[in-house]
Amino acid sequence: MRKKVIAGNWKMYNDIPASVKLISELKKNLAGLDLKAEVIICPPFTSLDTAKTLIKDSAIMLGAQNMYFEESGAYTGEVSAEMLKSTGCQYVILGHSERRTIFKETDELINKKIKKAILSGLNPIFCVGETLEQRENGTTESVISTQVSVGLSGLSAEDLKKVIVAYEPVWAIGTGKTATPEQAQQVHVFIRSLLRKLYSDEAAEGVTIQYGGSVKPENAALLLSQADIDGALVGGACLKADSFTSIIKSA
Ligand code: PEP
Repeated sequence: MRKKVIAGNWKMYNDIPASVKLISELKKNLAGLDLKAEVIICPPFTSLDTAKTLIKDSAIMLGAQNMYFEESGAYTGEVSAEMLKSTGCQYVILGHSERRTIFKETDELINKKIKKAILSGLNPIFCVGETLEQRENGTTESVISTQVSVGLSGLSAEDLKKVIVAYEPVWAIGTGKTATPEQAQQVHVFIRSLLRKLYSDEAAEGVTIQYGGSVKPENAALLLSQADIDGALVGGACLKADSFTSIIKSA
């Protein structure tokens, strides 16, 4: 049985006081619950150290939203996997559509980051997904196939165990438009079939595939009830402790 994983991508929101408030409220909400899902928060870099201290006595785990693949050096503005590890991160979001579109990250760059993250002991949350135009012109599967095969290129079946795949249709991120549970399930099945071809039945069955794109308390339960939807990557709705808690409870 794959464990459900609910991750919150805070994006570029919350300074330190706001981060302290959100984490404190979330901790209070989750205290005493018999959690059936793993819970990860991914605050901005500036709040990671504060988050590490605050979540110490809770079930919440920490992730970052990006990293660079080099160990150290003259890379102004970048952060390494080792730096993330030292601030308590166990996860890192890689290949998010905002990184792909706004910051022009390619599949090849994302692949280098994924390999470095795994080598350093971080678990990548590897995002893939098609744009509205790609969905409408019928290229969803070929787009995702390229993103998955290039993104995971060079990874062994053992490495794959550390990866969470997040299917995030670009047209559903931050737009309020959610893929229907059936639409999402169909792509999740496709991603798992790709993993089966690239690795094996056993390896593919073990991979957690999250759905992301306007997940809210109102739609989470139905999405998470699909056989191949193993969790959610939540943006907007993770910025309020109560709505994130409600999504966690749905899992
Ligand atoms: C995201 O940022 O990964 C995301 C899915 O955002 P939202 O939930 O706001 O669509």
